[in-house]
Amino acid sequence: MNQVSRRRFLKITGAGAGVAAAAGALGTLPRLRAAGAAGEKGQRTVPTICDLCFWKCSAIATVRDGVLWKVEGNPEDPLSRGRLCPRGTGGVGAHFDTDRLRAPLLRASVRGEERWTEVTWDEALGRVAEKMKRIAAEHGPEAVALFSHGIGGTFLRHTMKAFGTPNSAAPSFAQCRGPRDVGFELTFGEGIGSPERTDIRNARCLVLVGSHLGENMHNTQVQEFADAVGSGATVIVADPRFSIAASKAKHYLPVKPGTDIALLLAWMNVLVREGLYDKEYVAAHGFGFDAFAAEIQPFTPEWAWPETGIEPDTIRETAREMARHRPATLVHPGRHATWYGDDAQRSRAIALLDALLGSWGRKGGFYQPASMDVPTYPYPPYPKPQRGSVDNPAREDGSGDRRFPFASEALTTGIREATITGKPYPVKGWVVYATNLIQALPNQAETIEAIRALDLLVAVDVVGSEIAGWADVVLPEAAYLERYDELDVELFREPFVSLRQPVVAPPADQKPNWWIARELALKLGLGAYYPWKTIEEYLDRRLTGAGLSLATLKEKGLVKGPRPPIYYEEGVVPEFSTPSKKIEFYSVQLKEKGFDPVPRFTRPAAGPPGSFRLLFGRSPVHTFSRTQTNPVLAQAMGENELWVNADAAARAGVATGDRVRLRNQDGVVSSPVRVRATQAIRPDCVYMVHGFGHTAKGLRRALGRGASDAQLLTRYATDPLMGGTGMNVNFVTLEREA
Ligand code: SF4
Repeated sequence: MNQVSRRRFLKITGAGAGVAAAAGALGTLPRLRAAGAAGEKGQRTVPTICDLCFWKCSAIATVRDGVLWKVEGNPEDPLSRGRLCPRGTGGVGAHFDTDRLRAPLLRASVRGEERWTEVTWDEALGRVAEKMKRIAAEHGPEAVALFSHGIGGTFLRHTMKAFGTPNSAAPSFAQCRGPRDVGFELTFGEGIGSPERTDIRNARCLVLVGSHLGENMHNTQVQEFADAVGSGATVIVADPRFSIAASKAKHYLPVKPGTDIALLLAWMNVLVREGLYDKEYVAAHGFGFDAFAAEIQPFTPEWAWPETGIEPDTIRETAREMARHRPATLVHPGRHATWYGDDAQRSRAIALLDALLGSWGRKGGFYQPASMDVPTYPYPPYPKPQRGSVDNPAREDGSGDRRFPFASEALTTGIREATITGKPYPVKGWVVYATNLIQALPNQAETIEAIRALDLLVAVDVVGSEIAGWADVVLPEAAYLERYDELDVELFREPFVSLRQPVVAPPADQKPNWWIARELALKLGLGAYYPWKTIEEYLDRRLTGAGLSLATLKEKGLVKGPRPPIYYEEGVVPEFSTPSKKIEFYSVQLKEKGFDPVPRFTRPAAGPPGSFRLLFGRSPVHTFSRTQTNPVLAQAMGENELWVNADAAARAGVATGDRVRLRNQDGVVSSPVRVRATQAIRPDCVYMVHGFGHTAKGLRRALGRGASDAQLLTRYATDPLMGGTGMNVNFVTLEREA
């Protein structure tokens, strides 16, 4: 096992102490006895998979006298290596959360008023099926769309495909990692994947461009970051905010917000001009290098200085540092990449810098992941939808191109737009699984306008978030420690299959997603798509096909396969699924569609005088807007705060601890948030953690705590390549609370 101590891991997360204290306070949680476990004595452990985020670390839950006691990492798990992150450790709180939905609900008043009537599952699913059938009869089955997040949405996606709709999307693409994946696909012919194929553990130089690893808590990456720091790797961080990651850096570059492409171009300019790039690698695998080199020739460090605020000597020194460690220099692709609307090109610039350093396919760069071959369940073929998906229709110029030609997944905001406009055809029903669209999509007014155009909105979730507040039917899902989910067939350094299984029973009338999806399908007359009766039957069928068994997975939690070669150095054959079959330094396909074949920098629009650019990010103890009511995690972080540069705060007449409201450029005003005046952020921006400032009445523990960044994101810049929504284009002023 890796030698990084738990203490150092927590130090990098920057939130360990709070969570440790909160976990110790579990004794104060209500002790809800697991249904069916009355009289259970003694201690048992059950392997499962954490679902506090999508990373899917394997965990071992302990139950004492029938009561869920703790969740820890599974030592056999390649992702967690036996250590859950601070958020995962608080997983027990998801079971004990007193704000959970407890029974199916039908809306009893106008949408958004959050007045409900409790009903049986039969009534609730009957209502959903009846409405879906009516919509299908009037508008076609394509008029029902699914929004989902994570592996838990698998069975609802199956039901929706069987129903005949092609409209299914997740915010994880257009609101998060989509530009990154597209930028790398355009360059290397492959995306980054999830977990990312980044070999952080073996990197000798790690470059983070606006990526705040440690606050952005993806367990494996943070552990590997700690490994790399511990073994003396050089860290270079470019970020307007001095993040936890920046505190580990040898070089911290406080880059002006929105100018990352200029910095990346200047770094590449230095590598090419000084001949420091990996010439052999580029000659063997590169396409269009000469045209690329000519394109970036003007973008010197001196050119970049006024744009980025980073001095030429610093740009040169950091570029040379990257070259010194190549190919074990990893310019991290980040994850939440939807910032300014030019995000796919920024991600492509990161990919090109990695290509110059020769790190794709190499140890300390990007490895080639592997997965086990587990056959899918042999369902009957889905009906072919009569119409294509609405999210990314063909352009009206007769070119045959889609509006966003390089979108490789469906666009949530495209479905939202079609719902509002009725074009290319009306969307009249939304089924929303485990994603709080009100907080996940920019411009809440547009989301609500779309909801008003619906005949049916169904929310399936564990807690009654804002989107549930707008729903006609709310379906309470069992928390992850109470249910089976689809198998996790992981793509990683070593292939493995892991299982989420119930540890305790749900405390009330909550049901697992697979049961909800199956029962809905039966009510829709789609029983042929659910030939299995129990989830165990389904899982065992899939596992048996791979020479495995459910019994083994239930006992061990996961089964690993042998680690194959994962680097070119180990014999992996370089292959690139680009049009040229090479790494595309110059992209002909981009040029043919009217885009820059090599990324270019466009200065971002400035905000109104006296305003701050609003930046937002992640906390290591919360996931999006989904965990603020978790009693353990709420104790660790109950509200967000606003980072304001100390000098700018003084000028604005506010100090640490003051409460301010934020007013954005369109007059939207936030709920109060506490100020953190600090020199650790540039004076032209403010920063807060995403997901707070809840308005849903059912989220009693989180209601009105902190401010909602999502509420203030009235503007967004759409990426012309792939439809991602750049959200760092909003500006705020501060109004001190009396
Ligand atoms: S990263 Fe943390 S929250 Fe996410 S699955 Fe792993 S332990 Fe759970």
